Order: sequence, then structure tokens, then C-alpha cells
Amino acid sequence: MICPRCKTENGNRTVCSNCGYFLYRVANQNVQKRTSVERAIDDTKIMGKSVWKVLRVVWIGIVMIVLSFWILALLMWLTGGEVSFFGA
Ligand SMILES: [Zn+2]
Repeated sequence: MICPRCKTENGNRTVCSNCGYFLYRVANQNVQKRTSVERAIDDTKIMGKSVWKVLRVVWIGIVMIVLSFWILALLMWLTGGEVSFFGA
């Protein structure tokens, strides 16, 4: 920890050994800075999670459409093209 008043390196001390400045204030400021960055990282993680949720829903929708198409095609093939789903 470098004292902001006299620029003396004080290691892990909470009070400057040279001028007596309370360094824990600086330490608290550093913690706040770190937590704001961590909060931003957490926000990005939450954003990523919501994107994955949307992608999963879209993926399930695509799978359902493809599956229903294949079931329809299978029914058409099994019945020799006699089954129509359009009322004819
Ligand atoms: Zn100092």
C-alpha cells in the first residue's frame, strides 16, 4: 500500500509509517473499485445466461418444427402420400 500523501510504501500496514495517514481509507476505495468491476463481470454473466435461455428456447422451437416436419413426411411416406393435412 503506497501512502497517497507522502508516497511511502507501507506494505500491508493500515497507517503510514512515515506520516501517519490512515491507509485503510485507500484500501476501502480499492475494494469498492474491485467490486464495481466484479459487479460489471456479474452483469455480463447474467446477460450471457439470459442470452443462453433465449437461444435454448429458439433451439427447442427449431427442433420442434424439424421434428413435426419429419413426422409429417414419415406419415406421408407410410400412407403413400394419401394423407393430406390441408383438407383435400
Ligand atoms: Zn504517508
